[in-house]
This record gives sequence, structure tokens and C-alpha cells, in this order.
Amino acid sequence: MPVRPSADDVRMRGFARRTTVTEALAWLDDQLAALPAETVAIDEAHGRVLAADVTSSVDVPAFDRAMMDGYAVVASDVQGASTYSPLELTEVGISLPGRPADARVAPGQAVRIMTGAPIPDGADAVLPFEKTRQLPNAAATSPDGTAKKNVEVVGDVAVSANVGRRGEDVRAGTIVLNAGRRLRPQDVGLLSAVAVPTVAVVRRPRVRIITTGDELVPAGHHPGPFQIADANGPMLSALAERDGAATVERVMIEDDREAISAAMLAAPDDGVDVLLISGGSSVGQEDVAPVLLAQRGELAVHGIAMRPSSPAGMGRLGGSLVFLLPGNPVSCLCAYDFFAGRAIRVLGGRRAAWPYRLTRGVLRAKISSVIGRLDYCRVRIQEDDAGGATVEPLAISGASVLSSTTRADGFVVIAADREGYPAGDEVDVYWYDDALGSY
Ligand code: AMP
Ligand code: MG
Repeated sequence: MPVRPSADDVRMRGFARRTTVTEALAWLDDQLAALPAETVAIDEAHGRVLAADVTSSVDVPAFDRAMMDGYAVVASDVQGASTYSPLELTEVGISLPGRPADARVAPGQAVRIMTGAPIPDGADAVLPFEKTRQLPNAAATSPDGTAKKNVEVVGDVAVSANVGRRGEDVRAGTIVLNAGRRLRPQDVGLLSAVAVPTVAVVRRPRVRIITTGDELVPAGHHPGPFQIADANGPMLSALAERDGAATVERVMIEDDREAISAAMLAAPDDGVDVLLISGGSSVGQEDVAPVLLAQRGELAVHGIAMRPSSPAGMGRLGGSLVFLLPGNPVSCLCAYDFFAGRAIRVLGGRRAAWPYRLTRGVLRAKISSVIGRLDYCRVRIQEDDAGGATVEPLAISGASVLSSTTRADGFVVIAADREGYPAGDEVDVYWYDDALGSY
């Protein structure tokens, strides 16, 4: 069971007991379900998650069409034709894409046709141009005054050859995309092809980000003496966006109880699904967010048996899920990835799993951990030509050293029930790059 601290005793006593990652995830998963649907135009739908199956009301294509340039013919008419025994047909019209011939093809006749053009009535195959020759008297005029061209046929075709049948791509009445699908570019193309103008998609989780700290200066500013430029705000915006959220607001505030309280309670008009608070998440004098959350809402988890990120917390405030993320940037990243990112993905209809590609690799050096605590080890990964990989541990401590995560290719998670891994062990490794995007 998660530890549930009372409203006024969370600070200055240290964490009496740390919640395990498994317990914390169990609490979190109980809070999560996909948000309601909203309707968006298909041009806005790429990357969104379908909230309902999409059924086509039309056949695609809606008519039989030519798959090659040539002549629409009656296949039995040209059977056996070759360069040694050519046949002759009379061209009675032309069918272009979007502009069908008004002629009908009777035995002895052909309609010149271009790829994508409707097959005229009477024809059952398309004879490619390569199997024909234009006769010298091609421009001759027929007695009725219409242009009449003769076509020499030097090859034959089977019935249906080079004809794309009505509905061969999509049949009316079939489900083309299922609820839960994260829309790929070609999915958007297909929605357009089946004449769907808008789709119901899971609403994007609305995320509000609060970074706290007297020492912070906003992103892009040069820190003065004893100041730190805000790394977590921009990083959290990017993470939330990666996971499908819409950041409704990002604010930076000083370590002041009233200011933090006001910021926590000031939900914008359109509501907030997830509140991310960076800094002041632990049990020190300056750490007011856990106390406020316990008083104003619910502090369900505080103090987690993991490194980094042990001073993280989670709870609820009004309609929002709240994540208390430690200020040390690696802790912030790790706590986001373990808990907040998962919540944002599931609320947005995506899979809970990390979007990081998972591979295996052989450790070049041991990783030490302790039983009872999960560890997050930043690693370099080197792939060899044979499809294998070696994994070099870079940093397991140093929660303040954000560049350990930029020098790393990925990370290895050491489960709480392991003391670590010896060199030579094959381990699971997650790549920071190659994010799968949860399609
Ligand atoms: P805190 O969690 O507020 O106790 O902060 C722990 C450490 O993280 C301190 O050294 C802070 O200066 C640093 N820190 C807090 N917030 C940020 C931030 N947004 N960006 C970079 N460093 C931070
Ligand atoms: Mg702080």
C-alpha cells in the first residue's frame, strides 16, 4: 500500500518509508483512463488517437479504372494477337482520368485510355500501348464524320488485365481504422480517400507546468551570481509534448508558500488534467508543495524507493493529477518518465509503455545497486555489425548532472530486487533516441 502521509507531518522527519515504484505505479494506474473524445479535421489528426472506429461509406475506387495507359478492349477480341498475326481494332473514343469516354466498346472496337481513367462499358481489359501499333491510316475519317483511328494489335491480354476493380482498395461498410489507433500520415491519407472530413480523437491532456526555486532564472537568461537557469521547464514542456500533451501554461515561481499555493490552485478556465511541479518536492523547510497538496487535495505517494527521483510525489488536486518532481534535473527527467509521462500517454489514449526503443546489450562494466531500490543508470551503447551491442555505464548517481543524460545514448533500469549486474551480463537497454512515438 502506498504511504499516505497526514496533512501536516510530511516535512522534516525524512521519509519514514519509501513507496516502491511498483506500488506507486499501481496507485497511478488506478487513476488513469483515456480522456473524452473531441472532433478534429483530418488535417489536424496526424499523431492523434482515434476515439472510435472509422467505417468507410464509399468504395475506393468508386469505379473500375485503368491501371496502365493503353486501350480498353474486349479481351476475347484480341486473343491470339501477336506480331506475326496482328489484329485491327477501331478506336471509338478516349477515356481520361475524371473524363470518361461516352463510347461503349463493342467487339472490334477499342477506347484509348489513360491510367486512372474509368473503364468504358463493354470493355473488360486494358491492352497496354506496348502491345499495339498505330496504323498509317490512323487519322482517316469514318463515313459518319467522326475521327476514326485504326489500331493494330500485336499482343493479347486476359480478362481483367490492368483493370483496377471498384472497391479493390476499400469496400463500403468496412472498418478502415480502429479506435485506439495513433494516426500515421498514411492513415490521414486513407481517411481523406474514404471521404471522411473529421474524426473523433481522444482529447489531448492539458498540462500545466510550475517550476519553483528562488535561485532560478527563466529559460534563455544568463544566470547571475548563485543563480541557476531553468532546465526543467523547457525539458518538461518537450517531454509532455512528446507524449501528446498540450501545455496550457508554464510558470516559474519563487520558493514562497503563498505564491506556490496560488499557482497550484489557479487552474486556467479550460481546466488542467495534469499539473507538473518541479522543485521543492522533498521534506525540507523549503519544500512546501507536498504540504500544500496534502492540505488542499490528496498526497497519495511521497518518497519513492528509486534513485534518482526518491523525493518525488503524486496525488490529486481538484480534477488534476499532480506530480511533484524533484528539482535536480536528472531526477526530474526520471520521475517524469516513470510516472507523469505514463499518465499523460494513457490520458491521451496512448499506450502506457515508454516510447523508447528497447534492445539488449552486454555490459562492459558492472552496475552496482542495492536491494529495495530501483536504479536508473545512464549508459553509452555501441552497436556492432553482427547486430549485438555493448553497454557502458556512465552514471548511476549525480542527479544534478543533466549532461550525463545528453552524453548517454540510453539507460538501464536496475529493478529493486537486484543488487546490480556484473560485467558481461546481457541487459535490457532503452534508447533515448529512436523514440517510437507510440504508433
Ligand atoms: P529542489 O528539488 O528544489 O530542492 O532542488 C534541487 C536542486 O535542483 C537544486 O540544486 C536546485 O537549484 C536544482 N533545480 C531546481 N529546479 C531546477 C530547474 N528548474 N532547473 C535546473 N535546476 C533546478
Ligand atoms: Mg528548490
